[in-house]
Amino acid sequence: MARRKLLMGNWKMYKTVAQARAFAEELGRQTSRLSPAVDYAVCPPFTALHALRVILPSCVKLGAQNVHFAEEGAYTGEIAPGMLTELGVQYVLVGHSERRNVFHEPDAWMRQKVAAVAAHGMTPVLCVGEDLAEREAGRTLAVVEAQTVSGIADVRAEQASQMVIAYEPVWAIGTGRTPTPADAQEVIAYIRQVVAREKGEAAAAGVRILYGGSVKPDNIAGFTSQPDIDGALVGGASLDPSSFVAMAEAV
Ligand code: PGA
Repeated sequence: MARRKLLMGNWKMYKTVAQARAFAEELGRQTSRLSPAVDYAVCPPFTALHALRVILPSCVKLGAQNVHFAEEGAYTGEIAPGMLTELGVQYVLVGHSERRNVFHEPDAWMRQKVAAVAAHGMTPVLCVGEDLAEREAGRTLAVVEAQTVSGIADVRAEQASQMVIAYEPVWAIGTGRTPTPADAQEVIAYIRQVVAREKGEAAAAGVRILYGGSVKPDNIAGFTSQPDIDGALVGGASLDPSSFVAMAEAV
């Protein structure tokens, strides 16, 4: 079965509850422009999840930007998987480069987070990608391979087939710079091969792999028209409803 395209907005630490509501209301006026053949999601700050659950158009699913892998416990400042399912969250970002690089989350946590999200019936979105020094040293494929192998280590093949991987080169995030669509396709095809080797062909055929990093309405189609690129994870350009809808129409 063909993989459904996915457009996912990552709002990072932007939007108060009031601003999130305003986005949802505007999106609600434009839902006729959202195709039923595409999956849509936004990942607001945790504080806006509840409000959005109530007013987001039903075709736009909720995502969270992070999660802890424990069921509950003395982890000040953290959010457990069950707290997200309670709010209707469907997707959870794991290992975004800002979590890895700014907050120094260890690689070893990613597999536990991916497994915990999947075990709770949500869809993990495992983010992988090389930084500029790694790219210039010719290590892009080795870096994404290591992050992918380790990130999916604790999920079963059928769980891997349902998950999402986002290839986000660190040097492309928020910079206005991107790889060419052909370069992104090459890395994403490689990630799919790694999934095939680790979890089998069915998992590789099912897993959706997104491109992320400075995606905008005018460049999204170049990426999503590539054979292995199943959609986009978008930061800055997902904050404005008109821009979100423009990307939805182009994806
Ligand atoms: P950007 O961010 O689209 O603003 O580059 C992408 C991301 O961090 O997911």
